[in-house]
Amino acid sequence: MIIEKENTNYWQNELIKGLTLEGITDKNFFDFMKGKIKKLPLNVDDFGWGVFPIISQDGVLNDIRMVVPVIYNVKSLCVNIHEYVHAYEMYFDLGKIYKWHIKESEQKACEAEKRYLLTLDNRPKL
Ligand SMILES: [Zn+2]
Repeated sequence: MIIEKENTNYWQNELIKGLTLEGITDKNFFDFMKGKIKKLPLNVDDFGWGVFPIISQDGVLNDIRMVVPVIYNVKSLCVNIHEYVHAYEMYFDLGKIYKWHIKESEQKACEAEKRYLLTLDNRPKL
């Protein structure tokens, strides 16, 4: 698979658009995640992408890791938006006893993807 390097800025801007829709604009969050995100140049369907809590022995959420695909199309962008929503939610639980709210988190992350996709429908066609 070839990733179009020249489109990197385009996809980065789209990611920011998608995250902004979700209210994810906090610079502190992005600073916190620096160096904690692994981007793999793989097909979206070929890997189990996700956000991974780092939990201490007494159950406290200490840190966050994220594995996402390099963005090369809308699908891989949506995976990134999805996982960022999970990470952002987890960010607020740092220092607390960690509980994974699977159902609510999944719903929230999936809705974020849909919201972004709707903006594509509403854009003027080139
Ligand atoms: Zn999810």
